[in-house]
Amino acid sequence: MADEIWTVKKILDWTVGYLGRKGDERPRLSAEWLLSAATGLSRVEIYINFDRPLTKDELTLMREGIRRRAAGEPLQYVTGEMPFRHIVLKCEPGVLIPRPETEVLVDAVLEGLEGKEFPRVLDLCTGTGCIALSVAGEHPDTVVIATDISPKAVALATRNTDALNLGGWVDVLECDLADAVVPEFEGTFDVLVSNPPYIPTAVLAEQIPSEVRDFEPSLALDGGADGLDVFRRILDLAPRMLVPGGLLACELFEDALEAAADLARAAGWDSVEIREDLTHRPRILLARHEEA
Ligand code: GLN
Repeated sequence: MADEIWTVKKILDWTVGYLGRKGDERPRLSAEWLLSAATGLSRVEIYINFDRPLTKDELTLMREGIRRRAAGEPLQYVTGEMPFRHIVLKCEPGVLIPRPETEVLVDAVLEGLEGKEFPRVLDLCTGTGCIALSVAGEHPDTVVIATDISPKAVALATRNTDALNLGGWVDVLECDLADAVVPEFEGTFDVLVSNPPYIPTAVLAEQIPSEVRDFEPSLALDGGADGLDVFRRILDLAPRMLVPGGLLACELFEDALEAAADLARAAGWDSVEIREDLTHRPRILLARHEEA
């Protein structure tokens, strides 16, 4: 494509064909997003600017994006963003891309906050910060402490916080689960929410698509033999972090929800509920201790 003139339409058509031949299941979607990222045009503007030639810089960006996508890299890493509920999160390799099922987890958190003024939420394994930032944006006056063990995730979640102007409400800490939560905050959270790594190790090795397994961080995915290694630790620390009657809300592996619910009941949680995601798979565990 060296010295030819490449218009929006010409590069769009070429990219759709090329990515399709490279095995992209949704080549038009990929081509549109790559072209938007390279040109700054919205996806609608692409279709009314068909004759606009790309500048040299845009063409360079587009070429690099096509190369990465054709190698199987997730689109959100290539374009650097992912829409989630009402916000758009910056994404980058090394940090899990937000998933639609996690939007349902946020609904459960917001329900748990209904009617509460100045509530506090603890979000463990925050990744991009998608849960923390959605909750802070959608339930005004919520203080959110978000933690992650990965320095890359903490740096990205902090950038997302700043980009959304939520720095006054969301504090991102680098630590193992709740290790850096100060003692004064223990026992003050209305909700403890987490989307921990939860894919059983064998499932991750054998069944997860290579687009996920080869490009997304296993630290954010691998939940140990039954997928519940990190969940067990969260279940253990949650009573110390929550207010009496506070809500624990975790996203988990679809085949592990029953086992997780049994663990919660055995640990003395009173109300234990399993919720489905948008594809009707069991996905979320909600648990509370009754107020004394
Ligand atoms: N839902 C993610 C996936 O299917 C897994 C997220 C996680 O382990 N927390 O890839």
